[in-house]
Amino acid sequence: MNVTVFGTGYVGLVQAAVLAEAGNKVVCIDIDEDKIARLKQGHIPIYEPGLEPMVKESIATGNLSFSTDASVGVEHGELIFIAVGTPPDEDGSADLRHVLTVADTIATHMTVKKYIINKSTVPVGTADKVRNTVEKRLAERGLSDLPFDVISNPEFLKEGSAVADCMRPDRIIVGTSEKESEQKLRHLYAPFNRNHEKILVMDVKSAELTKYAANCMLATKISFMNEMANIADKVGADIEAVRRGIGSDPRVGYQFIYAGIGYGGSCFPKDVKALISSAEQLGLSAEILTAVESRNEQQKHYMAEKILAHYNGDVQGKVFALWGLSFKPNTDDMREAPSRVLMERLWEKGASVRAFDPEAMEECQRIYGDRDGLELCGTKEAALKGADALVVATEWQQFKALDTNEVRTLLKSPVVFDGRNQYEPEEMEEAGFCYYCVGRPDTS
Ligand code: NAD
Repeated sequence: MNVTVFGTGYVGLVQAAVLAEAGNKVVCIDIDEDKIARLKQGHIPIYEPGLEPMVKESIATGNLSFSTDASVGVEHGELIFIAVGTPPDEDGSADLRHVLTVADTIATHMTVKKYIINKSTVPVGTADKVRNTVEKRLAERGLSDLPFDVISNPEFLKEGSAVADCMRPDRIIVGTSEKESEQKLRHLYAPFNRNHEKILVMDVKSAELTKYAANCMLATKISFMNEMANIADKVGADIEAVRRGIGSDPRVGYQFIYAGIGYGGSCFPKDVKALISSAEQLGLSAEILTAVESRNEQQKHYMAEKILAHYNGDVQGKVFALWGLSFKPNTDDMREAPSRVLMERLWEKGASVRAFDPEAMEECQRIYGDRDGLELCGTKEAALKGADALVVATEWQQFKALDTNEVRTLLKSPVVFDGRNQYEPEEMEEAGFCYYCVGRPDTS
């Protein structure tokens, strides 16, 4: 099928690459000229496992191409995806500016029927706004009779496994009441719907709400566990034992119930805020979501508080080795990452940071530049050299097996602050470490 994707971020680029590999002719449109120029050369602006070879191959077969010329994209695609950002506005609501700009652009150039498919995460009612925007522009062009449909098809990929998630989705939500639109999407997604039925067709509003409900549920699980961890701290319980204890109940399940230093990224924080804002606009008060957000904000300070307590509030001149900058493993994304709150607290108190991350070093450099108090190190060992303590902020696989002898030798003193419960307190104690973790008894 001829497909156009507006927006070449995590969602748009991955979706485009996967659809192109499945044999569709895909054109990607972005307003970022530099990004498009680099993509044309096969340079991928984000780190996502498996994405680069897939993009390069589809460019070579001619199934995938890139342009900044929106008219080319609108002419090409019978199916046009909107996959642009929906950042939070000042009041927390989703900023729909980019989505509606694309809707207007499509209506400015379309001359035949188009299926406009919204993949961006948007509040309930956005499809109506897209529809109104398109209708208005078509009317101005004297083309009010030109048919189109607006379909909600929210994206559930996870950064770090985005390609695999799009190749083997858990479910494909299609929000439309038009039979023809449903059939078009069933055809498009047929290669990804082989083993068992994954396509769930529903009305547009339910599809829009499903995306927010999914992310808010996951954020709730994390904040709930973090709250349990804080209680465990006070009563001397071990949150890891509690996790196993509750996860064994299939109604709870083991997934997504790890305590830590909070969630980050581009989605959970903004989607929780946006749903709170939507509820407020409807005269409702989103009690649970407000608490989820507030717990998360506090949790990002959890390890900084433990660090300050260890040094009796004085970290002036101390040097911390920081392992992990990205908000989670397998991505270079540092949007709303807990590592940022941690570093900023340490800098504020006069400490400095020697940081290492397998993928997010460039992103960190872009955000903080050559800031005083930050040194980016080429390896995790280099970050340790001469530091007063190690702080773990992201659970990258390569941090899991700790060479305690080496860490003890490289650090000035054997102190580890583990924001992701990567190590066993008993083993750390035996290895002679002063070990702080989340919701588990610390050893000192
Ligand atoms: P992103 O910020 O990485 O990328 C958005 C892209 O859209 C940018 O390249 C930007 O230049 C481009 N853009 C902006 N205005 C444009 C326009 N008028 N025409 C063409 N391109 C334009 O965003 P993302 O992370 O890919 O997220 C996109 C949407 O998908 C958001 O609504 C997000 O909430 C949702 N989503 C994201 C994820 C994720 O893990 N990142 C997962 C599911 C859903």
